[in-house]
Amino acid sequence: MIVVDENDPIGEIEASFPYRDVQLKKGSISRDIYDISSEELGRGTYGTVYLCKEKTTGLQLAAKYVKVTCKEDRRNMEREIEIMSGLHHPRIIQLYDAYDDGSTIVCVLELIQGGELFERVIEEDYVLTEKACTIFIRQICEGVDFLHSRDILHLDLKPENVLCLSREGNRIKLIDFGMARRYDPTKQLQILFGTAEFVAPEIVNFDAISYCTDMWAVGVICYVLLSGLSPFMGDTDIDTMTNVTLCKYNFDDDAFNQVSECAKDFVQQLLQKEGTKRLTTQGALNHPWLIDSAFNTELHVTKTKLKRYVIKKRWIKAVNTIIALRRMGAKIDLDLV
Ligand code: AMP
Repeated sequence: MIVVDENDPIGEIEASFPYRDVQLKKGSISRDIYDISSEELGRGTYGTVYLCKEKTTGLQLAAKYVKVTCKEDRRNMEREIEIMSGLHHPRIIQLYDAYDDGSTIVCVLELIQGGELFERVIEEDYVLTEKACTIFIRQICEGVDFLHSRDILHLDLKPENVLCLSREGNRIKLIDFGMARRYDPTKQLQILFGTAEFVAPEIVNFDAISYCTDMWAVGVICYVLLSGLSPFMGDTDIDTMTNVTLCKYNFDDDAFNQVSECAKDFVQQLLQKEGTKRLTTQGALNHPWLIDSAFNTELHVTKTKLKRYVIKKRWIKAVNTIIALRRMGAKIDLDLV
């Protein structure tokens, strides 16, 4: 049985290699330097991630392959690499190397072996207490705090982009900077992308976005982690986004019976329609729910709904993968539950 160690809830924080600044190199990823395994670690909207090893050191890494078919794809990848290469922090995935052969860009990344946070916490042997939730949410806030201190907005914070470093400890890292943007507070920035469940009202309304846009997503992640329910989820993305603009959510479901008032207050202070009223990263890190270790240490969060949520996501992902593979004429063999 895996439980949080109260004396060392997060554990040590080193990355698997010293921080390094990375420049995008011209040419294919060097097979003299790296062994690329056929083992797939995961698939995102734009790329596929494979296990990879540096030959001389034996260092295990992850190689993310992204096809670039037009100028915009290349610009997006160059921006992602430029943003990531300057982000040295224990809660942020580290970039190790990058190659561009003209049609594919490969990012060699720190390997994160514990899988997606929600996949981990729904495992039978994981005891999900409210205390454990605070440990994860605190780390997410620390990562976002670092990003914001560097004027970077992540803009795609969602459970799939929070990975566990190992299957034993409680350390997490934020990944996927494909949608991240450098933010100049003196200039207005609007965007038209994101995942409906996690986008803030200002994105749906195409209003100016800011640091607070990421904090909304932290509020949604926290709501889902505590209950297994998605606060704004409708039958379609349009319904979901309508619920977001109305800021229509509540804590009425039975899943919240066990959840402390302090946790609900934390979520409520993030899920504010007005961005300026939301907690900042510092406000969140100083909220009693994240600083008062006496809070609900023993209260177990009911995982039934969270399991259902994660399995539904697996199916959606699998269906999307099948559609993508069918387009490429591939044979399919999937193991879902
Ligand atoms: P991404 O395209 O960056 O969202 O990655 C797609 C999926 O690949 C993620 O949801 C993870 O499951 C997996 N993944 C991405 N980066 C890594 C990594 N550095 N180590 C292990 N798995 C990863």
